[in-house]
Amino acid sequence: MRTGDKGRDKNGQPKANFEPGLILKSKIVIFAEGTRGSLFKKHSQMLDLRKGKNEEVFEEGVKEIIQMPPGSVKPGQVIHTLGFPLTKSIGGTFLYTMSDDKIALGLVTYLDTKDPLLDPHRELQKLKTHPFIAEKIKGGKVIAYGGKTLPAGGYFSMPQLFGDGWLVIGDSASMVDVQKLKGIHLAMKSGILAAEVAFSAIVKDDFSAQQLSDYDKKIKESFVGKELYRVRNFHQTLSKGILASLPLIGLQEMTGGRGLVDNMSTHQDSKATEEVSNIWGDNADKELNSLPKPDSVLFFDKLSSVYLTGTSHDEDSPNHLIVSDTDICRSKCQPKYKSPCNHFCPANVYEMIPSQASSGGQTQYDLQINYTNCIHCKTCDIKCPFDNITWTVPEGGGGPKYRET
Ligand SMILES: Cc1cc2nc3c(=O)[nH]c(=O)nc-3n(C[C@H](O)[C@H](O)[C@H](O)COP(=O)(O)OP(=O)(O)OC[C@H]3O[C@@H](n4cnc5c(N)ncnc54)[C@H](O)[C@@H]3O)c2cc1C
Ligand code: SF4
Ligand code: SF4
Repeated sequence: MRTGDKGRDKNGQPKANFEPGLILKSKIVIFAEGTRGSLFKKHSQMLDLRKGKNEEVFEEGVKEIIQMPPGSVKPGQVIHTLGFPLTKSIGGTFLYTMSDDKIALGLVTYLDTKDPLLDPHRELQKLKTHPFIAEKIKGGKVIAYGGKTLPAGGYFSMPQLFGDGWLVIGDSASMVDVQKLKGIHLAMKSGILAAEVAFSAIVKDDFSAQQLSDYDKKIKESFVGKELYRVRNFHQTLSKGILASLPLIGLQEMTGGRGLVDNMSTHQDSKATEEVSNIWGDNADKELNSLPKPDSVLFFDKLSSVYLTGTSHDEDSPNHLIVSDTDICRSKCQPKYKSPCNHFCPANVYEMIPSQASSGGQTQYDLQINYTNCIHCKTCDIKCPFDNITWTVPEGGGGPKYRET
């Protein structure tokens, strides 16, 4: 493995503190990069590790921590809802009451949405206007914010899990129970099983795919495999719409996850996006202006929310968000899709700004990338309709400083 170079300026040139990346030699590598792992993405493309598997699909989650008045919160309450405030996308919300009078409030949306204007941050703000939620958080103040994608394809989207000298665990291997929105226990257990298999490999001094294949067997036989298998068709079913899917989900519950069709396929999230006019007709501007009025107490604009993540990146470091062709943004994406990255990014990283070249009354736009705002959710690597963005690991360990989200 080679770690990233340190101390490069924004043009990629070495600065005074430049240190080249280290080359680490190891007999076995365990990929544990979480959702949409950038190294594992390349590795699996090179070795075709997703051949014969369902497409990898994702959900985008945003979350706030709300500090409530002393003595007002009884910890341990778990509320999950479906529907409101989402009208064009599938998704749900969660409210967990915690110790120290805190409430975690979040919203998770399916990234196979057709809606190019989907903005989970805006939807989370709208959620707080619902009378049921408004009553629960009355008197509170938002103290933290975060955003992250979670892999939703589960059992049938798991890539090949082992090979010569490597294993993959947790979110990088799509190990999330999307029905419960829980993946920490699966990441931990897969890490334990990977460590056991790595230990046997070291004892036998054999790091071949054949030796490491034991990991696949252990995963399938453990609660990881069993839990993922039970919800193997859940995401695909709910993608069909809440009302249409409820009877099918009921049937899956009765048949151990099977339902009517087993295995239900998935489709690449980026390809699902449709043109703005198909989804919103004449109402696009109304939707774009539907953010509840920010008060910096319970309601926030996106930039103020980003401030609560504590995210930072060295201004004089290379942009870690690689857009392959900005002409596509200007000529194809903006006119038809109104630049979805400007909306789905939970941290206001992407902005189409009127270009200096605007002429003849026709406004042209250029993409501006405020990469220092990035909170590493990876949505842009997944949902750009032209697969035009690649997320790479930023130089120098920058990123969000999550403590509570
Ligand atoms: C909104 C939301 C709510 C959730 N709620 C719950 C819940 O209540 N309970 C639950 O069990 N699960 C929940 N999950 C899922 C859970 O967060 C994940 O399943 C779990 O964190 C996966 O663990 P992991 O170790 O695979 O990945 P991660 O926890 O994401 O850890 C991966 C780490 O690797 C780092 N990394 C990535 N790439 C590199 C690289 N190339 N080099 C070095 N480091 C790298 C990342 O910065 C990160 O720190 C939720 C997810 C979301 C999005
Ligand atoms: S980066 Fe992707 S989503 Fe953003 S404007 Fe360009 S093509 Fe559109
Ligand atoms: S730039 Fe990409 S990874 Fe960073 S916060 Fe925005 S959508 Fe997420």
